[in-house]
Amino acid sequence: MSLLTDEQRNKLQKAWIRYPDVNETCIGCSACTAISDDVFELDDEGLSVVKTCSSYEDMDVDDAIAACPVDAISWKG
Ligand code: SF4
Repeated sequence: MSLLTDEQRNKLQKAWIRYPDVNETCIGCSACTAISDDVFELDDEGLSVVKTCSSYEDMDVDDAIAACPVDAISWKG
């Protein structure tokens, strides 16, 4: 599965589809990937990144947001 690109983010925003975003405070604890590995994965630096999905609803994103110890994940769009 590929990662969410800026171009794809723009398309989602235009379609009013919200998507999760991980900011620079991620410490790579893996909580989000353990909860929703269809949405999140760790990159080569061990930090969480968002995968490409047609929709992020019913993908446990809210649970991942709640579990993140540094509040690095938020909804965008
Ligand atoms: S739960 Fe938060 S800190 Fe942990 S890997 Fe995911 S985004 Fe990073």
